[in-house]
Amino acid sequence: LDAIDAARAPFASHEWQAAPLLAGEASPETPGDVINPADPADSPGTVAHASAADIETALANAKPWEATPEERARVLNKVADLYEENFGEIFAILHREAGKSQLDAVAELREAVDFLRYYAANAPETPPVGVFTCISPWNFPLAIFTGQISAALAAGNAVLSKPAEQTPILAHFAVTLMHEAGVPRAALQLLPGGGEVGAALTSDARVDGVAFTGSTATAMKIRAAMAEHLAPGAPLIAETGGLNAMIVDSTALPEQAVQAIIESAFQSAGQRCSALRCLYVQEDIAEDFLTMLRGAMDAVVIGKPWDLSTDCGPVIDETARRGIAEHIQAARADGRLMHELKTPNAGTYVAPTLIRVNGINDLEREVFGPVLHYATFDGEDLDAVIDAINATGYGLTFGLMTRIDDRVQHVTERVHAGNIYVNRNQIGAIVGSQPFGGEGLSGTGPKAGGPHYLPRFTARPAPD
Ligand code: ADP
Repeated sequence: LDAIDAARAPFASHEWQAAPLLAGEASPETPGDVINPADPADSPGTVAHASAADIETALANAKPWEATPEERARVLNKVADLYEENFGEIFAILHREAGKSQLDAVAELREAVDFLRYYAANAPETPPVGVFTCISPWNFPLAIFTGQISAALAAGNAVLSKPAEQTPILAHFAVTLMHEAGVPRAALQLLPGGGEVGAALTSDARVDGVAFTGSTATAMKIRAAMAEHLAPGAPLIAETGGLNAMIVDSTALPEQAVQAIIESAFQSAGQRCSALRCLYVQEDIAEDFLTMLRGAMDAVVIGKPWDLSTDCGPVIDETARRGIAEHIQAARADGRLMHELKTPNAGTYVAPTLIRVNGINDLEREVFGPVLHYATFDGEDLDAVIDAINATGYGLTFGLMTRIDDRVQHVTERVHAGNIYVNRNQIGAIVGSQPFGGEGLSGTGPKAGGPHYLPRFTARPAPD
């Protein structure tokens, strides 16, 4: 950890610039400041958005990567090496641009490197689809961004990358490293900007496929735009939102369950699509369990992303903070607020909060922050709880805490979710057994990092 601190220290007040990286001349729109969510007085740098002319340049110059699978693999492994060598700068950008804690930053870099090496090792012989637009979110600004791009590139596609507007600096830095490693500029172009840039890059007939991670609503808009403007059958690979539940029954180990809940609901300030949103605790143990949960919440350290002691950093920006605060305020007005911590004064922070609900169907939308909803259930009604969870239509993650083997089988067979976690936290992929990805409103599949993902980026996809 001392080495990490030393490596990121030189970048504590560094100013980066993010701008389009094109296979042709760029004429981007005037730069604006990128905001540090933990400290409004600090800006990590500036961003210039892709103009309409830049979008045209990118579309006109995009060219699939003509190289053998071995050569693509060599270059992608080189990208992974460069990511690892530049970890200090990457961590500093993750802290200052995305508000990521130390723990999150380390996990993010590891995941990005894993994607690169996995897709490199599996670079296919089959021809590419052509030009892929990759649209990524701010909550995993390196891992998801890199995962989409490296899968598309491993298969030899040309990539037009549109990163989230909140995290252009990391995207710019990462693409610079990809070009340095040997990815041709015509095979990978970066177009920073907002939803309008994403919309332009998903509604042009020169685009052959789209990989998207973000909200379900945006995925639906993209699907409609593609149906109107792209060739029939153009692939859309979408990973979207969730309304994730966990059931804790009266045989669960309480200390284990409480720790898993704290991590699943509040790590990354709850800004994970996998995060636990609605907890169901069996009535018989609810009173004691709630006392323990409140105590554990009180111990969560809310702080600056770059401090080693921080468990929960800020949310991404003021728009996000305001939306979550409105949700908490509505619960307060109804007398449903069960526990709340204090927030720091500066920065876009939301403190971990516990809100009482009757069940998951009380949640009207995915509240993307450190807010946990709490319900109890009678042991006789377990199947009704499962039905309510399935009825949301989402199907991303689900957690179960029980020591009854038959119940593990009973519940996990019935819940519709892409990722199911038993007696552990509800976070991320499970290496070796469960790549990450959802069902229903949570995504089209196939799962990133799984065996069916790469074939979707080739002209002859394997059946799912
Ligand atoms: P989030 O809630 O994570 O910001 P969004 O779905 O709004 O989810 O954003 C995810 C990504 O989709 C971002 O890069 C955003 O700029 C992009 N985006 C937003 N609207 C559109 C659109 N109409 N077409 C294509 N991309 C879009």
